[in-house]
Formats: sequence, C-alpha cells, structure tokens
Amino acid sequence: MDKAGEFVSIRWVLAGILVGIVAGLWINRVDGAEMPAFEVVVLCGDLFIRLLRMVIVPLVMTSLISAAAGLDTRHLGRLGAITLSYYLSTTLLAAGLGLVVVNLLDPGLGAVLQPVRTPEVLLQERPPSFMDLIRNLVPANPIDSLARTDMLQIITFSLILGIALNLMGERGRTVRQFVEEVLALSMVVVRWILRLLPFGVAFLLMRTIGQAGADAFVPLAKYMGAVLGGLAVHGFVVLPVLVWLLGKCPPWRFFAGIYQAMLTALSTSSSAATLPVTMRAVEDNLQVRPHISRFSIPIGATVNMDGTALYEAVAALFIAQVYGVELTFAQQIIVLFTATLAAIGAAGIPSAGLFTMVIVLQSVGLPLEGIGLILAVDRILDMFRTMVNVEGDAGGAVIMNRIAGR
Ligand code: ASP
Repeated sequence: MDKAGEFVSIRWVLAGILVGIVAGLWINRVDGAEMPAFEVVVLCGDLFIRLLRMVIVPLVMTSLISAAAGLDTRHLGRLGAITLSYYLSTTLLAAGLGLVVVNLLDPGLGAVLQPVRTPEVLLQERPPSFMDLIRNLVPANPIDSLARTDMLQIITFSLILGIALNLMGERGRTVRQFVEEVLALSMVVVRWILRLLPFGVAFLLMRTIGQAGADAFVPLAKYMGAVLGGLAVHGFVVLPVLVWLLGKCPPWRFFAGIYQAMLTALSTSSSAATLPVTMRAVEDNLQVRPHISRFSIPIGATVNMDGTALYEAVAALFIAQVYGVELTFAQQIIVLFTATLAAIGAAGIPSAGLFTMVIVLQSVGLPLEGIGLILAVDRILDMFRTMVNVEGDAGGAVIMNRIAGR
C-alpha cells in the first residue's frame, strides 16, 4: 500500500510541465498576467505550495527526533560529521565550478545593461555576523521557532529532544512511538499531496513563465547561459558521478528515483517545500534506510545548496565585470568562501539566495546596487538552482546510506 507505485507517473508530471510552459508562454504573449483570471492561476499555485509547507514542520521534527532517538549516540555523531563534511565539500566544489565557468565565459564583459532599481529591502540587508549565526542556532522559544518555520532552530531543538529520548531508553517508549506515528501520518498526507503534483507543476510554471517578460532575457542571455551551464555540469556530471562512485547508484537509477523531487523543486523554487517529496523519493525509490534519510534530508534542505553557491559565485563575478572591476585571485578565493557561506545561510525558499548575495558582494567591496542588474532573470534561475540544491540533498542521502554503516 505504501509503495513506490503510488507515486504519480512521470507521464502525468511531464504533461503538467508541458501545459505549464505552453500556457505560460501564451499568457506572457497576451499580457495575461494583468488579467483577473490570472489570479486563479496564482491561487492554485499558492495552494499547492501551502499544502507542501503545511507538512514540513511536523515532518522535519518527527524525522529528526526519531532518527536521533533510534541511533546509537556514537553512530549519530559519526553520521552527523560525515553528512556535514560531505555537504560542505560539495557546496564549495559548486562555488568553485561557478568561478571557473564565469572566468571562462566572461558574461559581463562589454555588457550594456539597463540598471533596474534595486529594492530598498535588499539594500538595507545587513549580513549577519558569524556570532549571530551561532546565536541563532539555539532557539530561545521553540514554539516561536516552529511558528516561524526557522529550520535551523527546529533542527537543533529536534536533535536535542531525540538524543534525550535516546538516553531515556525504555522510559521514553511511549513518546518515541507517538513521534513515529506522527511521522507516518505526515507521510500519508505527503502521498496525497503528491497526487496533485502534475497540477501543481502546471500552475506554478504557468505563473512564473506568464509573469516573466521574455524581453528581459536578451541582455542577460550570456549571464543566464553561464549560470545554467555551470548548473548543468554540476547537476548532470559532478553530482551523479559522486553518487555513482561513493553511493554505488548509477546515474539513470538515481535520476529515475528522484525526478519527482527535482521537478517539484523546479516548479516551487523552494528546497524546504520540496523536502517531503525528496524524503519519500529516496526512501521509496532508492531504498535509502529511513534513519539515514530522516537525518540527512532535513539538514540538507536547510544547509546544503550547491546550486545557490554556484549561482552566487557567477553572479558576483558577473556584477564585477559589468562594473569594470577586476577581482584578483585572492578576492576570488574570498568569493569562493563567502558564496559557500551565503548558500548555507540561505533559507530553502524562493529568492533566498538573492538576499544572501549581500554577504558576497560586501566581502569584496562590490556595490549592492549590482543586484539590480540580475533581478529580471532571478526567478527563472531560482528554479534551476533549487533543482540542483535538491538533487544534492538526495545524492547526499544515497551516499550516506552506503558509507555511514548501519
Ligand atoms: N530557492 C532556493 C532553495 O530553496 C534558495 C535560493 O534562492 O537560491 O533552495
């Protein structure tokens, strides 16, 4: 009953994508985004995302508590250390790949761009200090963290509860069982939501493509090419090869197992909203053991963003090129690290990477107004970088499943 066969078939999802793209292009042509009927498209897309977001908090909490409560505590430490090191290395690798691509293609050299006014909210953005980041890991009020869906704080709180439950042994049996049941319950709801995937994908694509004016793309085509090219190399070469070598899962099997998660990421532009789908996909289709996926997927969806790191590196250098600023090798190394940090700090929600870009630009003294240059195409690039972010999380789970022992 609880089988992979219950997943919606790829034909339906592809049909949803096709309808979304064709209808989106048509809406864009006839300026349909201004029409009252477009509100219905926006509403249906929103409903789908809200349904996914509805299950994130119970799912993340119960997954992590049950993973931490069920594992031998020494094993938990090892799994945590390997998972975080793997995520950090691939994110750095992605940012490095972004730097290589942008240096090879020089998309900003000689670009004549109409500056777009950068929204005030972006200019006022102050990057959090390292101390703030550490402070924010610990929730002062867990209920408040749950209400705000502050994923990092939820992760800390859930891990602490899980370890405590683990140490309580027999005495904690009822609570443990309760957590397991809430988790199973959340998964049932996820399965229902998944049935709506073809519709969700269609409405969300219709909305994004319908709103994005195609005219905005022309002057930024080279920049888009650099980001998409880098993402393609990372998503179709680097990650699948790593999963193959380290996780012993061949690329065709890997992609066939996670395509629904990747397409959900593409249409929602949110790793957090996609989390329930990613978890089901790796468990049901790639046979990742539940205690591994329950641990690595929620943490991955929050901190592991390869696509975002790559995009931040390309965008920062593109902005420098347009402003005629030549960044030295040392400055590019700073971009490498700050792009990685900006990706880790970005929340798994649409356009989060645009906000954390401030960290990268400030680190090498580039004007924040530069963000205005890339704003027009950000929504589209967000779709693809989120897809790579989610692929990275799933790949991590497959690899952990193989190398992290029992
Ligand atoms: N939308 C991305 C995600 O959810 C984050 C970003 O803006 O790069 O993974």
